[in-house]
Amino acid sequence: MNCRPLACVSPRIRRAMNVQRTGIRLKLLFTSMSVALLAGCGTSPVGPSLSHSPADIVMMNVPFKIGNAVVQAEVFQRGRPVPTMINVHDDENTSVAAGKIVIEQTGGRLIELAHGGERLVTFQLNGTRHAFDPNRIFSDAGIRDTLGRSDTYSEAAHRAVKRFAAQYLESFGLDREPVIVALHNTVDGTYSVESYRPGAQHATAAAALHVSPNRSRFDFFYVTDRRFFDYLRQRDFNVVLQDNAAVPDDGSLSVYFARQYIPYVNIEAELNHLNAQIEMVRIVREMLDFTGLLDNGAKRGAISAE
Ligand SMILES: [Zn+2]
Repeated sequence: MNCRPLACVSPRIRRAMNVQRTGIRLKLLFTSMSVALLAGCGTSPVGPSLSHSPADIVMMNVPFKIGNAVVQAEVFQRGRPVPTMINVHDDENTSVAAGKIVIEQTGGRLIELAHGGERLVTFQLNGTRHAFDPNRIFSDAGIRDTLGRSDTYSEAAHRAVKRFAAQYLESFGLDREPVIVALHNTVDGTYSVESYRPGAQHATAAAALHVSPNRSRFDFFYVTDRRFFDYLRQRDFNVVLQDNAAVPDDGSLSVYFARQYIPYVNIEAELNHLNAQIEMVRIVREMLDFTGLLDNGAKRGAISAE
């Protein structure tokens, strides 16, 4: 589960966010290397490129080919690549800006999918246009549903999307991470922590809920691990604990990583709540230090749903 579909960010907002990025990127000295990894039909990673900066920030682009389209995974890293933060919706740039600001200060890596600035990835295969939500492709049920929404479902498109999902996970070793931090923005003005109250639209996905009277309802955490829920509730953040047994399989990463027993925390903030989201990323970093999940030599985090 995570933010609901809707509108893309306007070009004005995107330009504003890019200005924030520019401060980071101008410091970088670009070198590049290209390695052709694979060719062929469907989906394939077509080669990474690396950039280093004097400030020990590393940027790498890893392109994935899906039909006639290319999805770029843009990696931003300082120091050790932990924690790993991921952003899959290309219209949720405030979350990316917040993640980069915290990584610049405390280290870690951020993997951002770039695919035209919109929520959905679109591609053509065998002359047919397809679209999918990149956070609904981590199960067959999710792929069928998201591809079916554009009314052009085909088995070939299903295989191409499934291959992309597998290559994305494998390219960055996400199945071997001790914890995954996902970055999202709420953009439609309706999806919020209130969506998980008893009787609300997503109530069945939630095992527990804390709604703070002191926060925007659009700024909330969605977690799969009881330790995270308790930590964030004690600090009076809005937080939803996913019911890992009962949550519907929508192909999203919160469901996928719960099934991999990898703790997962999704940081949702309203688009342009940059300061709030920076605070949220920072508290997650503190929380991960507190739990010891990022320690050297730590095994993959055992999920705690008690
Ligand atoms: Zn999102």
